[in-house]
Parts: sequence; structure tokens; C-alpha cells
Amino acid sequence: MVVDAHRRVIAIDGPAGAGKSTIAKALSARLHMKYLDTGAMYRAVTFEAMLHELDLSDQDVVTKLAQECDLHVGIDRVIINGHDATAAIRGPEVTGNVSKVAANSGVRTEMRIRQQEWASAHGGGVIEGRDIATVVFPNAVLKVFLTASPAVRAQRRVDQDGGDVAQIAAAIAERDLLDSTRADSPLASSSDSVVVDTSDRAIDDVVDEIEQLFVERSK
Ligand code: C5P
Repeated sequence: MVVDAHRRVIAIDGPAGAGKSTIAKALSARLHMKYLDTGAMYRAVTFEAMLHELDLSDQDVVTKLAQECDLHVGIDRVIINGHDATAAIRGPEVTGNVSKVAANSGVRTEMRIRQQEWASAHGGGVIEGRDIATVVFPNAVLKVFLTASPAVRAQRRVDQDGGDVAQIAAAIAERDLLDSTRADSPLASSSDSVVVDTSDRAIDDVVDEIEQLFVERSK
């Protein structure tokens, strides 16, 4: 049943650089559950809109693109309308514009429907994003909100992609502000989420903790 599939979701939310992707991927491998990166969905729509030089502040035009696009977000490839956007969606142009596109309610409604359909089709999964626990899967069996100090989050991005730590820290702060102050499904921890600070912890240690929580919740 669809509702059961939505319960078999581990929701991993949090700001940029909190360790969501690394931890969610490791969990999905350990628990043999599918993994969905919902940030990649918003990034792919942003990429395609920029490719077609759409006005990103034109809500209707960007919503139409989101509704009509053929989007495939896999574990290691992101394809939108036949374009392989895997690398480009991680670039500074898309990163700098994605929060604007993600604030568009028409885009969010469409992505939410696709995320819920994905979970139904796969019998649940480990799903990471910003509003997974609060809005998309309110009945998820386990909700985790990952955090880390701003300095640690910026340094992780620099270690991963290079760049200047002060500039990256400023860009992350700006994106977090936009994501947490938008009207529609802002970045926020759900009242029933387990908040985990990953600042000074090894990845495996955090994955162990979440796995344990999942095992307990699933009893
Ligand atoms: O997770 P990632 O940093 O790749 O997400 C990129 C952007 O996508 C976020 O900054 C946010 O604007 C948007 N996003 C969102 N809701 C989600 C996942 C991502 O608004 N569930």
C-alpha cells in the first residue's frame, strides 16, 4: 500500500554541508534501501531552466518546465530531458541559483509529487533534502535532522570541491538563509526529528547511530 511505502522512509534533512549525502548513501547501502537525493532534483530543474535561458523569477514558466520535464535522478547520474546534468548541477552557477528555483511553489508541488511516487514505487527508501520530514513524508518511520557548525560545513565543501573557505562559508550562509526563510516548506527540523550534530564525529559513527535508531523504530 502507498501509505506503508511512505512509512518505510528514512528522512534525512539539514543544511548544506551537514553530511546528508554521505550519511544517507552509507545508510542506504547498509540497510539495502534505495536512496534519493531530492536536492539533485531541484538542481536539475535549475540547470535545465538556465540552459534554456528562462527567467528564473518567472514562476509560471519555471513551473511548466518542472511539470513537463523528463527527470531521472539515479545514484550516480542525473539526466533531465536527455541532458546528462550530473556534473553541471554541482557547479557554482546552479548552486548560486537553485534556492530561487526551490522557492517556487509550483516547482515544489511537482517535485513533492514525484518524490512521493518514487517512494511508492520503491517501497520506501533513504531520502535526503530540506522538507522531507516536515512536508513530503510526515509519516516517515525515522526522521533525522543533521547539523554541523558553519565552519565545519564550509571546510567540508572546500575539501570536496576546493575553493576559498571564506567565500564558500558566505555562499552556504546565503543559501541556508534563503532555504530557511522561504514561505513554502522551508528548511526546518520537524518536532519529531532526531537532531544529530555531525561536527566532531566520524561518518561511520553517525551512520551506526542512525542505523540503530532505525532498527529500534522498525521493531
Ligand atoms: O541538498 P542540496 O544542497 O543539493 O540542495 C540544493 C538546493 O535544493 C537547496 O539549497 C534547496 O534550495 C533545494 N532543496 C529544497 N528541498 C529539498 C532539497 C533541496 O528546497 N527537499
